[in-house]
Amino acid sequence: MNQDIDRLAARIADLRQKIEYHNYRYYVLDSPEISDAEYDRMFRELLELETAHPELASPDSPTQRVGGEPLERFEKITHYTPMLSLANAFSEQELRTFHKRVSNLLDHDDIAYVTELKIDGVAIALTYEKGRLARGATRGNGLVGEDVTANLKTVRQIPMRLRNADSIQRLEIRGEVYLPVSAFQALNEERASQGLALFANPRNAAAGALRQLDPKVTASRPLAFFGYAVGYIDGRQLQTQRQTLEQLTEWGLPVNTNFRWHASVEGVFSFCHNWERKRDSLDYEIDGVVIKVDDLEFQRALGVVSRDPRWAIAFKFPAQVATTRLTDIGVNVGRTGALNPFAMLEPVRVGGVTIKLATLHNQDDIRRKDIRIGDLVVVKRAGDVIPQVVGPVLEQRTGQERIFHYPKKCPSCGHDISQEEGEVMAYCTNRECPAQRFEGLVHFASQGGMDIRGLGPSTLQKMLDLGLVRDAAGLYFLDAEQLGRLPGFKEKSTQNLLASLQTSKQRPFENVLFALGIRHVGEGVAVLLARYFHDMNALLNASQEEIAGVAGIGPEIAGSIQHYFRDSRNRQFVSRLRQAGLQMKSDEPPVRHGPLAGKSFLITGTLESMPRSAAENWIRERGGTVLASISKKLDYIVVGAGPGSKLPKARKLGVKEITERQLAAMAGER
Ligand code: NAD
Repeated sequence: MNQDIDRLAARIADLRQKIEYHNYRYYVLDSPEISDAEYDRMFRELLELETAHPELASPDSPTQRVGGEPLERFEKITHYTPMLSLANAFSEQELRTFHKRVSNLLDHDDIAYVTELKIDGVAIALTYEKGRLARGATRGNGLVGEDVTANLKTVRQIPMRLRNADSIQRLEIRGEVYLPVSAFQALNEERASQGLALFANPRNAAAGALRQLDPKVTASRPLAFFGYAVGYIDGRQLQTQRQTLEQLTEWGLPVNTNFRWHASVEGVFSFCHNWERKRDSLDYEIDGVVIKVDDLEFQRALGVVSRDPRWAIAFKFPAQVATTRLTDIGVNVGRTGALNPFAMLEPVRVGGVTIKLATLHNQDDIRRKDIRIGDLVVVKRAGDVIPQVVGPVLEQRTGQERIFHYPKKCPSCGHDISQEEGEVMAYCTNRECPAQRFEGLVHFASQGGMDIRGLGPSTLQKMLDLGLVRDAAGLYFLDAEQLGRLPGFKEKSTQNLLASLQTSKQRPFENVLFALGIRHVGEGVAVLLARYFHDMNALLNASQEEIAGVAGIGPEIAGSIQHYFRDSRNRQFVSRLRQAGLQMKSDEPPVRHGPLAGKSFLITGTLESMPRSAAENWIRERGGTVLASISKKLDYIVVGAGPGSKLPKARKLGVKEITERQLAAMAGER
């Protein structure tokens, strides 16, 4: 029995940790790694385990919280009333259960509902004072959001002034900012032509646009808005959700007209199924239908449980799939030398978008799924991430399909390929590989990197062809005479490029880190590294353990960073960039302040006050470092109940042992 509970507790801890990680990627970095469907599955499992075992529930579980923490870069705004999430239903049965609970709690059988499309965008709150737009905020963690007023003012559909609302002292409107699918496609096409990374989906593109420090960038993306609720209003009381939607329209706010009022729950099901079929006909993405109790008095009576209102539920559509013919498999060589296989497809529409290419991840995946050239394949565009090939439709095989053979040599330079034990990707081993060099330069100059305006892929290719540069550092040592040798480069374009290069030297340290092109270091990781280490020298000299101790960075990423900086050629590259005058320090103060700064910790056993992962974050938030294994570098081992084998090891090395209470005391929190 005890063992069962232990197993459950471990599974719960594991799920919580994974969900926290994906929340961070999704809400804070706007860069999810897994599909929403996969996320929802994990979330549901956790919810079910916690419901079945209330003794294992915990107030710091992700099931109890909304969204992610607001970014430090923005002013914070505390919402008048919390901005909530929504519980999910995945079947008609679950909708019925929802209705039963509502009618039981209200002791009423006939409940009227309003159904609305669930817009896959970013929730915001707009505050109008005497009818004028005063503030706009993101949802953030539900209680505190980010002040993005300047950016929201660039969204044309958001009125600066409401109609007939001057007499209302304060009014807060809730709604969704989104990017139309057509605008999303145009944006990605433009980015592809400039060699920039593509956005995974309209939601991420919208969230990214809204959280720009420069409103001009936001303005360049045609964001749109739908209002659906009143978060706060002085005086006048609204009676129903339907009336609310009508009132929003009267005030001049855009409201999605595809909502419907239902006298009872029966009409709700067909509304959901209809829109599941018709979702592709819209120019905005929806990921489900929101079902709301119409009567606002009933809504207040039903109230909220943890992060979800009891009076509403989201009926979530299944992930989007389609079948098409796989005509060929190609292999791209990326900037890190990774050989990325991709599928060429007969064009097919999935989720309102035409797909011609899809990722195949790696050769193991192709083998495991037995994907062959000529197969009819299922492709998935889970409303997020790049489209992927799920697998072949085996029943449709004709025998004409060909097995794909992974190249033995790099398709770009013909050099050997290596694949390390445990690594799923194969890499070209040639540092001089033209494809890698080119991709590395494109990455370096890209918007997320050094943002060198006017230096696109074709100019970079010409620079390589003419032998003007060998690597990105060389860009900063080019003079006007050399640039003048580029075809089509006249006096003006030369001066412009020199000016862009000069401007790019002011790019913050985090962008420099990203621009280096270290394997596994995306924009989000670069921000984490810059915030934590603050200074290139500190990062250059950090141990793998210390890097792995940064919240949000795992051992694999840490290993890759260490590996990169251990290579003397890379250190030389960094030192030439330093010489060129790039930012090697972050302006923000390092996170490593706080009562535990400069000390390293490792926890063994179960703590009384919080789960281990929460305790580790607690230590990091107070400036301490958390190490993953025992070494001489470890200052303290925090010993909980039932310590593991790490304790005797630590004792051998003479590491100081402390209790949970002593740790709290050390941080001045007893
Ligand atoms: P949610 O998106 O499932 O539902 C709540 C939100 O719906 C509201 O905040 C609001 O923004 C939105 N909404 C759209 N139309 C609405 C309408 N007409 N009325 C009311 N609200 C409307 O919940 P969430 O808390 O924002 O996010 C959780 C979901 O996000 C998960 O279910 C998952 O699908 C996704 N997610 C994915 C990852 C990942 O890694 N892929 C990570 C975290 C979350």
